[in-house]
Amino acid sequence: MTAVPKFRRILLKVSGEALMGSQAYGIDHVTVDRIAADIRGVYDLGIEVCLVIGGGNIFRGVSKAASGMERATADYMGMLATVMNALALQNSLEKQGLQTRVISAIPMTSVCEPYIRRRAIRHMEKGRVVIFAAGTGNPFFTTDTAATLRAAEMGCDVMLKGTQVDGVYSADPKKDPTATRFDELTYHDVLAQDLRVMDGSAIALARDSRIPILVFNLAEPVASVLRGEVKSTIIREGE
Ligand code: UDP
Repeated sequence: MTAVPKFRRILLKVSGEALMGSQAYGIDHVTVDRIAADIRGVYDLGIEVCLVIGGGNIFRGVSKAASGMERATADYMGMLATVMNALALQNSLEKQGLQTRVISAIPMTSVCEPYIRRRAIRHMEKGRVVIFAAGTGNPFFTTDTAATLRAAEMGCDVMLKGTQVDGVYSADPKKDPTATRFDELTYHDVLAQDLRVMDGSAIALARDSRIPILVFNLAEPVASVLRGEVKSTIIREGE
């Protein structure tokens, strides 16, 4: 296993589906509480934490567009869904005793703060957990791209992307028993081999901003992943 550097500030991407638990849709509060406890574990390591939250458990623009809605409208609805998730996660994080701020890329000042980069950094310096909601604020993007963007803007040492398996595989390990897991990959490997861990724009942005991406199994505690105690895949620039 590769040596894990000491992280000062990290960004964790939490997909909307991670909040569903065993439900088919929506927010399962027991699951959200578990994720919040997990984030508390990372905070207790002395690491500054920010989060980007997805919305696929409530609304995904591209699938609604396929059934006839205008894509941009559907995407705005998807971004609003991420704000609901952010508020649910904030509620659970505060139960863990963590000071939290929800910051939305679409201004919604009665509900949460608008996105101001320096202000978000200041929150983290003060020990607050920052949840970035509403993706990039633009349709035709995903929250994976928002996660890379915010990780670059916040100067994060790494972006963590939780999945259903313990890293990036050569094929879908749930369908192909010959699939093998990579310990390390370059951004170029991911794009050239079309390894579908994140969308191409997110990977390209991570490459251009030199943000390493750590892909791990969501079933594992994030603190253990950061300590290098469990298997994962690191995507970064080659030597
Ligand atoms: N979305 C968008 N712009 C963004 C981020 C998200 O339009 O910058 C919309 C898009 O419709 C997407 C939805 O919000 O389907 C929810 O985000 P995503 O599918 O990335 O959530 P996840 O899969 O992580 O739950």
